[in-house]
Amino acid sequence: ESRSSSELFQRSEARTARNYKPLPVVVEHAEGAWMTDVEGKRFLDLLAGYSALNFGHSHPDLLRVAHEQLDRLTLTSRAFVHDQFADFCAELGDLCGKELVLPMNTGAEAVETAIKVMRKWGYEVKGVTPNQAKIIVATGNFHGRTSTIVGFSDDPDARDGFGPFAPGFEMVPYGDIAAVEAAIDENTVGVLMEPIQGEGGVVLPPDGFLRDLRELCTRTDVLMAMDEIQAGLGRTGKTFASDHEDVVPDLYVLGKALGAGIVPVSAVVADRDVLGVLQPGQHGSTFGGNPLACAVGLAVVRMLATGEHQARAAELGTILRERLEALVGHGVLAVRVRGLWAGIDIDPAVGTGREVCEALMARGVLAKDTHGSTIRLAPPLVISAEDLTWGLDQLAEVVRGA
Ligand code: PLP
Repeated sequence: ESRSSSELFQRSEARTARNYKPLPVVVEHAEGAWMTDVEGKRFLDLLAGYSALNFGHSHPDLLRVAHEQLDRLTLTSRAFVHDQFADFCAELGDLCGKELVLPMNTGAEAVETAIKVMRKWGYEVKGVTPNQAKIIVATGNFHGRTSTIVGFSDDPDARDGFGPFAPGFEMVPYGDIAAVEAAIDENTVGVLMEPIQGEGGVVLPPDGFLRDLRELCTRTDVLMAMDEIQAGLGRTGKTFASDHEDVVPDLYVLGKALGAGIVPVSAVVADRDVLGVLQPGQHGSTFGGNPLACAVGLAVVRMLATGEHQARAAELGTILRERLEALVGHGVLAVRVRGLWAGIDIDPAVGTGREVCEALMARGVLAKDTHGSTIRLAPPLVISAEDLTWGLDQLAEVVRGA
């Protein structure tokens, strides 16, 4: 029985809340960097699940681990210990150079966890006045969709209509070290930022900002939390985006690729002097650290421990940079590239980001716009150089109006 994309698309749209505006493609299966729709048409995936699919679709080693674990044990809850937990925590901790791991599921949950941990650390270790803890965040941030998190967003779509919001956050311009310093007071427990802003359009802070922030946080006894959920785990050509400035934050906030697009896996990774503030009963998650998540997460950590995927991102990133920089002035206003990750500001004369994505889709390439006129490219790190080049050829023809 053949199924039509347009029929399935319309039925999907009819029965879901309209909190997304997907491209009208209905995927049935996928492998590596390629997705196939219900009619058998193939599409090159240049979004990779917002970096959750850094290792591509249906990676055989990851699928094998997941299948084996699925057949054996999927959930114990944290009331009991399972046999995948120790290795996952130890090896993820080692990858980060940290002592302890607190596993959760989604990115937003890991961000919430980091917020709670920083506040508790502030009261119990730093000696901040009860209920006065302040966390400094950045303009243009994206850390997830909970009511606390959207409360410190400056994106009206994310925020408007969802108040009242939790207090205790102060926003400073992203990349402005003097503004961070000016915002720090005796109640400041932490700074929470993305090392590169993903949803913001792959926005890089000025060179030296992360190093200056590390030095400032150490000097003022404030925790540095880096949300590496989208930027981390190989995407930028290094394990963490913070590594580009040799910076080690106090808390790594991880998600997306940690579960390889197979299961939601997130974590906060930090030393004992930080995560040690949590006692039994003070935080938790039914599914956080479950056997399937730990088995897949452990396989991901072992893949990253070889450095192979980071090297590949760096290598393919040079192709991406060269090809995109050649488009500036030809339908593209500006590009920002770090590793295999790019933000492309489309010239409004060419069309909106959405229109460019629709034109790409018609050519068999899937990408996603962000904030109207920017397109973000985050191909799976396993994409071949030939496929990447072909995808960029399609983009070039679209923005040049071919
Ligand atoms: N933090 C960053 C930097 C992200 O990019 C995202 C998702 O895009 C999140 C947090 C939220 O992750 P999740 O959608 O898994 O809750």
